[in-house]
Amino acid sequence: MNELTRRSLVRNSVLPLTGMLGLPSISAAVEQASSPYRRPKLKITEVRTAEVRVHGYQVHVRVYTDQGIVGQGETTDAAEGNVPLIRSFARMLVGQDPLNIEAAFERIRTSGIFAGAQGGQYITALTGVEIALWDIAGKALGLPVYQLLGGKVRDRVRIYCDSGAREMTPGDEGSKARIKEIQDLGFTAAKIDIDDARDPARFDRVNWTASNGEIEHMVAKVAFTRESYPKNIDLAVDMHGRYDATSGKRVAKELEPFKLLWLEEPVPPENIDAMRDIRASTSTPICCGENIFLRHGFREIFEKHAVDIVMPDFQKCGGLLEARKIADMAHTYYIPVAPHAVTSPIGMMATAHVCAAIPNFLVQEWHWIDSPELWRNWVKEGEIIQKGFITLPERAGIGVEMNDDGARKAQVPGSPWFEPAARG
Ligand code: MG
Repeated sequence: MNELTRRSLVRNSVLPLTGMLGLPSISAAVEQASSPYRRPKLKITEVRTAEVRVHGYQVHVRVYTDQGIVGQGETTDAAEGNVPLIRSFARMLVGQDPLNIEAAFERIRTSGIFAGAQGGQYITALTGVEIALWDIAGKALGLPVYQLLGGKVRDRVRIYCDSGAREMTPGDEGSKARIKEIQDLGFTAAKIDIDDARDPARFDRVNWTASNGEIEHMVAKVAFTRESYPKNIDLAVDMHGRYDATSGKRVAKELEPFKLLWLEEPVPPENIDAMRDIRASTSTPICCGENIFLRHGFREIFEKHAVDIVMPDFQKCGGLLEARKIADMAHTYYIPVAPHAVTSPIGMMATAHVCAAIPNFLVQEWHWIDSPELWRNWVKEGEIIQKGFITLPERAGIGVEMNDDGARKAQVPGSPWFEPAARG
């Protein structure tokens, strides 16, 4: 039933007419129903979820329709609390046409204005539903999602490997082995973390003013990693928004000789003036966005020229169309987009569809190097990254389908697995 094609939808809608109408009318009906402009009629019947823990906590969403087409989506990072939120959204979805994605999105977003619909978990939950609606739309119309987002400007999407969970320690054999592994996999860009809560040079457990010793350690890590990779592999560095403005400014300056791809969140993202001041003080490109939601959240960042690169998370920021809109806003400021992405192959491929469609794409994250078995067995299509790139599939919808047996290995114990919600 999942493989319902447009042709079968057309057939189903035309055949009952033959018993009721004369030949000229049948001919007109066939003509009308065969028109490429005729759209399938679908209704949403149900929304279900599953919870997993891999790189953090993710919620997978399935939206069901009366024609047997099922769409899938994924949320991450701000996913805590998404399950009851998604259940509450179902009331606004069941009975609706899933192809009117903007209408469904706005109905849910605007109904939550007093319930936190400006960002956070609310918008993350809505994101998972929105992605599932795009999967349905692609499957119903027989087109890959990128085609519905404006078509491809590139056939394949460049991926960078985030090895953040493993500290790149100068001289350490494990770190050298990890760098070699990333090179052997064919990646052309990588990212490391330099914020270290356990740094022995840290004087205070709460305040994040980096001491001289901490900054020395950060620079040493970057120097070691930069020298270990060949020059043609780009390197980005993440500070996770943990530091104050003085520290952020000092680190950005110290890292200038390494010609980084970017320095990520040297300060938290809420004070856009502080981010802009750091950007103005350094030649190191500054990047943020994984903790910002909707176009409305990004507007001031663009207007104040606070960053060189934006990195919205397409499994958090509002969905695939919202991601396209944020990217288009960025494009008017000549700012490239490098999406944050820490999800399964389903979320990664959904993100790649947008990246294929936007002109100002730079590079997309991948963060599952520590979970290779889960990664390779999550979808029926197997490995989706080849030599550091995702090639967009020609299949309808997102183009990958969950292999439940593989994905269930990461199921949150005791949580439902796409089971119907209890009816109240
Ligand atoms: Mg980050």
